[in-house]
Amino acid sequence: MLNPQPIINQVLDHPLLEEKEVELSIKRLDWVHEMVPGNKFFKLKYNLEKAIRENKKTLLTFGGAYSNHIHAVANAAHFLGLNAIGIIRGEETLPLNPTLSDAKSKGMRLHYISRSQYRGKTDDSFIEELHDLFGDFYLIPEGGTNSEAIKGTQEILQEEDQSYSHISVSIGTGGTFTGILQASQSNQMILGFSSLKGNFIKKEIDKLIEDYSINPKDQFQVITDYHFGGYAKYDQSLIEFIWWFFESFGIVLDPVYTGKMLFGLWDLIKKGYFPKGSKILVIHSGGIQGNRGFTFQTGIKLPSL
Ligand SMILES: *Cc1c(COP(=O)(O)O)cnc(C)c1O
Repeated sequence: MLNPQPIINQVLDHPLLEEKEVELSIKRLDWVHEMVPGNKFFKLKYNLEKAIRENKKTLLTFGGAYSNHIHAVANAAHFLGLNAIGIIRGEETLPLNPTLSDAKSKGMRLHYISRSQYRGKTDDSFIEELHDLFGDFYLIPEGGTNSEAIKGTQEILQEEDQSYSHISVSIGTGGTFTGILQASQSNQMILGFSSLKGNFIKKEIDKLIEDYSINPKDQFQVITDYHFGGYAKYDQSLIEFIWWFFESFGIVLDPVYTGKMLFGLWDLIKKGYFPKGSKILVIHSGGIQGNRGFTFQTGIKLPSL
């Protein structure tokens, strides 16, 4: 199995935090595992256990060409001696970007499908076609959110974390947010920053809460003001913020998830959103592997390790 490193909450020092009298710590999930860092470690943990228990030899999953999930599944499979198949949205472009080139070098078989085919990725008939092509496999949905993932992400919070008043997390599918919500205390406020445009994510979260019988809780807020135009969209202010954060704290953020969340969180701190005495814990969900792909695609340099 994958063994995690001890998880550290790093306290951040900054004059703004003193001025506003709030405490800010960052949970370094980016350090939880060398090969499978970030929230993907927790999302995959029980899926991997289940795959092995069911004697599956192959993992199959879906993702875009820069997907942290694809990268994590390829690494995890390699680490555990399983085969991996990545169903990739869109056409193959060569040279492969760093994410797919890593995945391939770890032995993942890449299978490209059109965007319209990709939309049918959860249809039974399509899954059957994949079984005809590839035989038996353990299926992990796109983004990795399923009941095993919700179970795993509950382990992101530890007992010591009960003292925080606010917990901040980035939202893609919302699986990580949902697990954290389930594991939180009733006096804690969970803030989810959506990396996607629009309010539909609020419905998705409500659905996850219902589907996974998360204790009805109202101590959360889904914030949709910091998507920068949509998933994987960005502007100069986001790039500057990521550099500023790196220079201030020595912590690398990514432009898709953690950069947007911390941009939003910092903005809310500035605007006085948090009462004096708040103790905020922000989850660094990883995703740094994607920075090379971002530079590959845009030519814009980002901090890296
Ligand atoms: C995948 C990912 C997320 C989104 O997680 P969900 O459970 O899909 O909401 C957030 N941050 C990073 C760095 C990720 O790679």
